[in-house]
Amino acid sequence: MTTTRFAPSPTGYIHIGNLRTALMNYLIARKAGGTFILRIDDTDPERSKEEYVDGIKQDLEWLGLHWDRIERQSLRLDQYADAADKLRDMGRFYEAFETPTELDLKRKKQLNMGKPPVYDRAALVLSDAEKDALRTERGAGVWRFKLDRERIEWADGILGDISIDAASVSDPVLIRGDGQILYTLASVVDDTEMGVTNVVRGSDHVTNTATQIQIINALGGTVPAFAHHSLLTGPQGEALSKRLGTLALRDLRESGVQPAALLSLMARLGSSDPVELHTDMADLIEGFDISRFGSAPTKFDADDLYPLTARYLAGLSLADVAEEISAAGVPDDMAAQFWDVTRENITTLKDIAPWWVMMRDGAEPQIDDEDREFVADALALLPDGAFDATTWGTWTGAVKEKTGRKGRGLFMPLRKALTGQSHGPDMSMLMPLLQTVKARE
Ligand code: GLU
Repeated sequence: MTTTRFAPSPTGYIHIGNLRTALMNYLIARKAGGTFILRIDDTDPERSKEEYVDGIKQDLEWLGLHWDRIERQSLRLDQYADAADKLRDMGRFYEAFETPTELDLKRKKQLNMGKPPVYDRAALVLSDAEKDALRTERGAGVWRFKLDRERIEWADGILGDISIDAASVSDPVLIRGDGQILYTLASVVDDTEMGVTNVVRGSDHVTNTATQIQIINALGGTVPAFAHHSLLTGPQGEALSKRLGTLALRDLRESGVQPAALLSLMARLGSSDPVELHTDMADLIEGFDISRFGSAPTKFDADDLYPLTARYLAGLSLADVAEEISAAGVPDDMAAQFWDVTRENITTLKDIAPWWVMMRDGAEPQIDDEDREFVADALALLPDGAFDATTWGTWTGAVKEKTGRKGRGLFMPLRKALTGQSHGPDMSMLMPLLQTVKARE
């Protein structure tokens, strides 16, 4: 059965970069009728925070990306220790004692000699007595996985055929000197034991994948299908700025972006399929095809989220937004009319309240100098009594007759005088809602 996982480290909130990872894994699982696991990669007790675990769950729930199972690496340390023992027994695991400074020096020397900075395996030739001495002097060493120096190949779901020479990669450290299990091992053990069949993650993980394939094979697991999506860039192809690269979903939510907009954009961005608003998750799932994604860096522009949000909101029924409309102070008997008038004229739900304030309290009129007299004449012609859908037509007809103005020169100054804005809803529909104009004098 198809099983995928989203495996964030709870060292921060979900941001726009890892939303793609979450979404792709989710869509693959759902399309195949499989299982989507939320795996919390919390083997680092210092950096992992419970508040981020909660935040990640809230963000996924807000988006409607429901998981079938949740797993926490911090509860599986015994399994990782067992796997480490297995690798030790197989002779694929060795202890190394170099300090970070020593490793750095080695790397620099190699680079100076024009060689790739690959760990030289000096620890492999240490005798037991030498290791004991180092352990006494420096404490426990790190544990490295001994790679087979051969080519590692896989058919990547996005990048195509990949071949990496293991000799160009350092033997990965899987356990730190303080005993902390590192992600590279924990992830392999989990993927194997949890039956993960498909792994989608960022292309910054390609080298990890090469080493993890060897570890999976050493542990007798089944290698999942890997796909590495490209990383996001800014709208001009520039590296995503720090601000944008870590743009948290909760900040987007705070700024009024709707889940449907985010999902619609991120599920198609970087693929050959057009970005369209999908309000139904089933459509997103149905139309998702990982093979349609390209390997080139993907341009992301947060501004694209707003037209999609606006389109989503315009399609909502009164019942969907009744709460927001009532919270803005719109009387119940005007709610339907209010929504009809504003639905096409808001970008986010935050725009609802200002519209109502304008209708209720009136706007600061915008009157150009050359229109001052015209507007004064026009206002004097405003009909008395209740406004209805015919008021605007009747009124502007009378103004036209009196002033001789027509078209834009007639309508625009009146719109600006009454609403304080040069754009907005159809004036015929808006007039009956303008409380202050109605109650003038
Ligand atoms: N915790 C890892 C990360 O956030 C997971 C990578 C993976 O998907 O294997 O980068």
